[in-house]
Amino acid sequence: MDGSRPLFINDKWRTFADRVKRRDNHRCLQCGRSADEVTLQVHHAHYIEGKAPWEYALSDCRTLCKGCHAREHGQIDPERGWTLLEIVDLGSLDGVCERRNCGSPIRYAHLTYHPAAGYRTVGSTCIQHLTQKDQLTSSRIVQLYKNISEFVHNSEWSEGRTKKGKFYLTTTYRHHAIRIYGSEKHYAYQLVFKEKGVKWHSYDDIVPLPGRSLEEVQELAYVVLKGKLARDGEEREQLREVYRRLM
Ligand SMILES: [Zn+2]
Ligand SMILES: [Zn+2]
Ligand SMILES: [Zn+2]
Repeated sequence: MDGSRPLFINDKWRTFADRVKRRDNHRCLQCGRSADEVTLQVHHAHYIEGKAPWEYALSDCRTLCKGCHAREHGQIDPERGWTLLEIVDLGSLDGVCERRNCGSPIRYAHLTYHPAAGYRTVGSTCIQHLTQKDQLTSSRIVQLYKNISEFVHNSEWSEGRTKKGKFYLTTTYRHHAIRIYGSEKHYAYQLVFKEKGVKWHSYDDIVPLPGRSLEEVQELAYVVLKGKLARDGEEREQLREVYRRLM
């Protein structure tokens, strides 16, 4: 798929930042420009080590535009205390890593934040300064999307017909199958599960996805199938999150 899309959003930060911006009437407190004219960011007036950026009092924070905010901080990059806010897949190497002395082109843009330094967008190789948990989140999400994209582009689909003559496209994943019925903008998918070594299939319901392209239906069906096969709760949770974003 073309274009950029968000793969991960830190909801706690999002909620906190929205409250600060709402309180400040969606304007930069330095230059007065509004969200229509500039990108608004949240600035912390001071930094408390060990506190997550959304654990501060609202009165510790101010809304600033990107330019005013950068001038407020200068160019220091602390080694610790960064938080992962968002991951965006740019679709190709369209971004630039803002980590000091890096400047490499990046595809997976990781928006990070430090209360004493502001925002930086960095690539997946320059995120070692994030917490272990954020690094793990990043590597899992980026890997998951690589898997989805590989599946969409490399899976082989063949044609089939049901006993009643209904046409479908099908592919296998592990020993299970995905079927896609219908045609452009009127696709529906169905998961078919097979127990290994048993001649026995369990057919899930046919799920219509009106208005979606074939690639989108392939992605969604794959994500649901992976979610149903996932053993570990965290992986299932992540796939559920991905599904919500794709819907
Ligand atoms: Zn400003
Ligand atoms: Zn700041
Ligand atoms: Zn970098």
